Amino acid sequence: MEQVKVNLNIVRNGLKEACHKAGRSSDEVRLMAVSKNHPLEAAMAAYEEGQRLFGENRVQEALDKFTNPPGDLELHMIGHLQSKKASKVPGLFSAIQSLDKIKTATLLDKKATDLGLQLNVLIEMNTSGEASKNGLEGEDNLWKLVEHVNGLSSLHLKGLMTLAPFVGEEVPIRRSFAALYDMYQKGIAKGYDWDTLSMGMSGDYQWAIQEGSTLVRVGTAIFGHRVYA
Ligand SMILES: *Cc1c(COP(=O)(O)O)cnc(C)c1O
Repeated sequence: MEQVKVNLNIVRNGLKEACHKAGRSSDEVRLMAVSKNHPLEAAMAAYEEGQRLFGENRVQEALDKFTNPPGDLELHMIGHLQSKKASKVPGLFSAIQSLDKIKTATLLDKKATDLGLQLNVLIEMNTSGEASKNGLEGEDNLWKLVEHVNGLSSLHLKGLMTLAPFVGEEVPIRRSFAALYDMYQKGIAKGYDWDTLSMGMSGDYQWAIQEGSTLVRVGTAIFGHRVYA
């Protein structure tokens, strides 16, 4: 688990460098440690090193792993959310970054309201055109979902999330991030109080930061390759 701490500090330095290169202040970009497919001990090694924001992509795995998390550990759901699992999200997760359906939003809001909890949400957009990816396609669909979520009392829409195409090439990846940045700026221009643009992973966070990301989700570069599937 010492390696996790070493890796975390390497990523922190990498973020600082990327911010410097992009002419941005490093406190504009939050680092999320994506602990999916890694055991609790790995997440706790990062926690001991000062990491507080974590991401998981499956509800059941997160429930099994984070049975009694420290009070200041912040957990976000970043994976595709099946509506039948939506009722388990409020309470365990303080935010969901992968909202892409009206029906799921309604279910999440109902559950959060029943529990007296507030839930921050990001809408996930598919900016790569890859059919294998989740997320909404098209701005019309985005603004429809935005209006719906804005009408719900226990959900707070804070911005947008995307995954770049898995091509490893700078141009299409940056195009994807730039498209999300553009939608994010439109939301802000409409007067929404958005503050989170979640984009960038282990292999592409430098480009995401250049394209305006405010939150990067890093798994492999911190925890290594997946331990279990
Ligand atoms: C796994 C995952 C990440 C982290 O990916 P790495 O390449 O391991 O850094 C980020 N975002 C989402 C939505 C993920 O599922």
